[in-house]
Formats: sequence, C-alpha cells, structure tokens
Amino acid sequence: MRRAFLLQGIGTVGLHAIGWPLQTAWAAGLLGVRVWPSQAYTRVTLELEQRLVVQHQLLDQPLRLVIDLQDLQVDAALRQLPSIIPPDDPWIAQLRVGQFQPKVARLVFDLRQAVRVEIFESLPVGPYQRRWMIDLYPDREPDPLQALLNRRFAARSDEPGLEQLIEDLAKRDVQGKAAKTATSPDQKTAPSAKAVAPASGNPPSESGPAVVSPPPASTASRIIAIDAGHGGEDPGAIGPSGLKEKDVVLDVSRKLAERLAGDQGLRPALIREADYFVPLGQRVRKARALRADLMLSVHADAFTEARARGASAFVLSDGAASSASARYLAQKENAADELGGVDLRRRDQDATRVLLELSTRTQIRESSDLANLLLGELGRIGRLHKAKVERAGFAVLRAPDVPSVLVETAFISNPEEEQRLADAGYRDQLADALHKGIRQYLVANATTGAKPR
Ligand SMILES: [Zn+2]
Repeated sequence: MRRAFLLQGIGTVGLHAIGWPLQTAWAAGLLGVRVWPSQAYTRVTLELEQRLVVQHQLLDQPLRLVIDLQDLQVDAALRQLPSIIPPDDPWIAQLRVGQFQPKVARLVFDLRQAVRVEIFESLPVGPYQRRWMIDLYPDREPDPLQALLNRRFAARSDEPGLEQLIEDLAKRDVQGKAAKTATSPDQKTAPSAKAVAPASGNPPSESGPAVVSPPPASTASRIIAIDAGHGGEDPGAIGPSGLKEKDVVLDVSRKLAERLAGDQGLRPALIREADYFVPLGQRVRKARALRADLMLSVHADAFTEARARGASAFVLSDGAASSASARYLAQKENAADELGGVDLRRRDQDATRVLLELSTRTQIRESSDLANLLLGELGRIGRLHKAKVERAGFAVLRAPDVPSVLVETAFISNPEEEQRLADAGYRDQLADALHKGIRQYLVANATTGAKPR
C-alpha cells in the first residue's frame, strides 16, 4: 500500500512534480489548513478528503516556493492560510494564495532564506483525513544537536544514515572477527555503542568527508539522548481530563536534561525541545549521529481499561514482542509516524534486517541493564505496571548501537495517575528517578574515567 510520497528539493532552484494519477474529482475542498512552526522547521498541512496533485518549484531572485494544487478551487480555508502563518516565521516572509488557472490553486511562499523543502502526502489515520505536508527546513541546520555533533566531529557535518550504519557494521563484522582478540583500550570503554564511531586507525569512509576521530573516551562527555515522545500534530495519549502525553513527557524530559546537565562529564541532548513532531526514524538517527551513550524515550501510557496503572520500561525485542500488550503498544507508538506523516516502512525493513543480521544482543543486554535500574528507581516513587523489563519492537529503540530504553512513566488514561502526571512536583520526582537510574547505569558501565560524580 502506498501511503506517502517523500520528495526532497535541496538547493534553491528546482522543479518537481509529484502526485497521484490524474483521476481527481474536480473542485476538491479543503477540510482544514494548519501551520506548525518550530525551531527545527515549519510545517504547513493541508487536510482534504480527496486526492490532490501537487507540484512545487523553488525559485530564487527573489527566493520563493511556488506550489500548485491541481483541481483545487481557492476556498475560505485556503484563503485563511496566510493569516495563520506567524509573522516571525523564520522561513516564510509572506504567503500569497490565488487561483492561478481555472483548475489550479497556487500558493507562493516568499522566503526569508534558502530552504530545503519536503512535500509528502499522508493517508487518513486516526482523527485525520488525507493530508499534504509542506515542510520547510533550513538549508543549513541550526539544529542544536547538529551543532553539538559538529563540535564533536569537527570535519563531519553529515548525519550517518542507517544505510551507512549497515555498511559500517558489515565492515566491522568482517574486520571485527579478526580484531576481537586484540581489543584496544578505546574499544573497551565503548563496547558496542561506538560501532560507527571510527576508532583511530580505521580508514575514513570512502564516500563522506574526512572523518575526525572522536576524542578518547576518558575525556569525552557521555551523551544522553532524551527523546520526549510524540509532539506537534501527534498528541500521544490523552488523559480523561484532557492532559496530553506530548506535554507531560516533554516537561519530564526537560527536567531530566536539567539534572543531567548538572553532572560533570554528562551531556543531555533533547531529541525534541518543543512542541513539534520528529519522525521516529529521525529520532534514532539523531541519537546515533550524536554517538549517544544511551537513549531514553519518555512516554505516558494509555489503555482502554481505566484501571491500568504503573510505570513500565521497554527494551527492543529481537523476536516477537514478549506479550500481546507489548505488541499492541509497539503498534500504537509506531503509528506516531503515520500521524506525523512519514513513511518509514522501507527504513524499518533495513533496520530490521540490521537487527536480525548484526549485533543487537549487546544493545539489548545493555538496554535491559539500564531498564532494570530505571524500574528500580521508578518503583520507589510510584507503582510499577510490571516489575520486569518488557520487550517490544518500538521504532525508537532500533538504534542497533545505542542502548535504548522506552519508559512509560505512568498511565495517563488512569484518572488518578493522570492527576499525578499533571503535578509538576511528581514530574520532578520522575525526572529524579530517571536521573538516578541513568547515573547508576553509567557508573556500572564506566570502565575508565569519565564517571559521573
Ligand atoms: Zn507514547
């Protein structure tokens, strides 16, 4: 089933046409238009019942993005779009909407700076109908994570993709078998977590720019990737009184980051810093690009049964999910990308292949150690849903080389637990508990130097 088109126009000039075969009913109407500005990118969403053929051109002098919507009549919803673009949007100076041809509505975005454009369609999911997403990214990433990455690997500015990972792991698999007996101190300090970090002596990858070796582990900060679940159009679970998971988990994540920032030798990195959606695959890529020492995804559970309660911790399962409920949860969390509008299926297959073929056992073992410590701490401040670490196929746990744990802090669907989650004091306690668990894990796994105080 085709679900989404993804098209990238990089640079300032380009002409692309994408869309469905021309079978569209004339004069499709828009159901709604939305704008999600964020630090990372601005997303304009057009929601409609019918298929739509969309063409776009990126032009310069002056910089503008022209989008033609075939078989669409400018209507009230579309006419309203310019007024909901924030005046201080970093990319869009102004938007003009008009009926370009009798059957073509045209959007002209006057741009403040060069952008990278991604336009894709998402099929109906959850409360949403068919949507076209128009994402404007900076031509150059002002992403704080990217900046941190750039500092760490001065000459390397690109994120290693999963494809690169597969290559690297495959190479390591061949080379590693011979080298296993002679483990260097560097490798010792970073057992599996640094599969892609080129250890000194490794040749730089042929394709990319010259790779600068990371600093020795004894002086490097440990990087803790904190992934607040959901965001933007994807609210996550919603409690009986309306509390949204995306807001709760962002706050807990920020509080945790504050605590980690106070620890010598530790460096928190928030995968999402505000109310916007980050595709699941991108979350994993960011954590990997940062060479994160671990990744913690923060969520708040929901279940049809209001009585369900307590915190849980998940690590990746290498086979089927350990229980039906775990499987159910994995499906639900993975559906976030459908809400956010990115087709990850192919990438998932690649990641799954990596999982099957290469070293996930170490990742899972380390993740389980971390998850156990987190559960121990969460059990001190509240109830546990299950005393044992659970296993599931969450997409965000799939970095094959970064120990990754997904924590469901409580059941937001349980009225009592929703109340606790709504309380800033309890969110502080949650952040404290996660902080303690992470520190215990790092102390237990520190072989040389760089121990957190
Ligand atoms: Zn969630």
